[in-house]
Amino acid sequence: MTETKSPAPTFRAIDVIRKKRDGIELSRQEIEGMVRAYTEGDIPDYQASAWLMAVVLKGMTRPETAALTDAMLHSGDVLDLSWLPAKKVDKHSTGGVGDKTSLILAPLAAAAGVAVPMISGRGLGHTGGTLDKLESIPGFNVNLSVADFRRVLQVCGCAMIGQTAEIAPADRKLYALRDVTGTVESPYLICASIMSKKLAEGIDALVLDVKTGSGAFMKSEPDAAFLAELMVETGERMGKQVVALITGMDQPLGNMIGNALEVIECVEVLRGGGPGDLRELCQELAGWMLHLGGVANSVAEGKQQSAKLISSGKALETFRQMVELQGGDPRVIDDAKRLPRAQHAMQVTSAKSGYVASMQCDQIGTACVILGGGRERKEDSVDPAVGIVLHKKVGDRVAAGEPLATIHYNANAKAARARQLVETNCEISDAAPPKRPLIRGVIGGAP
Ligand code: URA
Repeated sequence: MTETKSPAPTFRAIDVIRKKRDGIELSRQEIEGMVRAYTEGDIPDYQASAWLMAVVLKGMTRPETAALTDAMLHSGDVLDLSWLPAKKVDKHSTGGVGDKTSLILAPLAAAAGVAVPMISGRGLGHTGGTLDKLESIPGFNVNLSVADFRRVLQVCGCAMIGQTAEIAPADRKLYALRDVTGTVESPYLICASIMSKKLAEGIDALVLDVKTGSGAFMKSEPDAAFLAELMVETGERMGKQVVALITGMDQPLGNMIGNALEVIECVEVLRGGGPGDLRELCQELAGWMLHLGGVANSVAEGKQQSAKLISSGKALETFRQMVELQGGDPRVIDDAKRLPRAQHAMQVTSAKSGYVASMQCDQIGTACVILGGGRERKEDSVDPAVGIVLHKKVGDRVAAGEPLATIHYNANAKAARARQLVETNCEISDAAPPKRPLIRGVIGGAP
């Protein structure tokens, strides 16, 4: 007699979508089924989008968040970098405007002897993405195979790539879909997205930069703190040392927004210059990376060491080496004209005298997306040359007619829309606004 097995329960995306829509907790199997089916192309974008929107609206429990992170992490390979003697530390930001710290921190920490295997994302919503910035360097390849990723890491101590078919492929697909379906702003989805790719990197420790303010996905400080705690807990559950810094994103970080422009500003910081807010944040994050990476006894010592690595030129040299090893043209470092440049520039001037009281930072990010610096649809390509250079930041004095920003553009109609957004989203007042610290809090970081 032949034995008949009962059929495996069939996965039906519609059931999982309805359950989440109705606020019922999903099982680990249902979450795994959803992630697997979407990653393998067994369900269409519209079903995955509906499910993501239900998650945004109904939230997730801690067990659901853990199951989602695990499912995304195990959608691909988990790297084993135990053969590298150095401690492996990465940093990741929850996304902001003008947030270019990764390009500075990876070579800086590597120059200090910490290994930085960095897997990053593309622009999401109004925010910029590390991969898009790196790709503005002619020839730079963010799609290295795992073997090449290891080789670059071994030679210069850092390597920066995107998710591959091998590493966290579920996040790659879901991230692109979330970007264009209004489903980014969920702490649970952000936590699973970031932690799945970071945990797949084979790291020992992770420094998180959780943004708060008008340019962040988590606008309020309590929401940012909630996300920070969620991510620290998720990382610690997996045996990693994790610290989260909650930092202000009420205005763009630094002065330059746009892919190639941001590379220029990174090189300035690696040369010891650049805007004060960007330098301050990099110093703090680097302090933590060096401390958790075991090359500095304290964060303060890590900050001192990183300042020395910048003034000695060692951090910039490591950046140059990484660019070259990843196929990029290292000559852009000494000659910014080799980076893509927009054909036109126009100034946005202040209508009145006073102080810059506030900037609606997400709108400034959207202005850059409209110029072509980010994506409006999943399949859009990015124009590396366009962007915005701010001449004034919050708290600065400005006279009527003085430039607030310069828009670098390639298409007139887009520039007009971007200009209007910048103009209407920089508020000028008679009195100087109260000064707010850039670093608002620290969560985790215990050895
Ligand atoms: N950065 C990521 O990697 N994922 C998100 O969901 C948001 C920011």
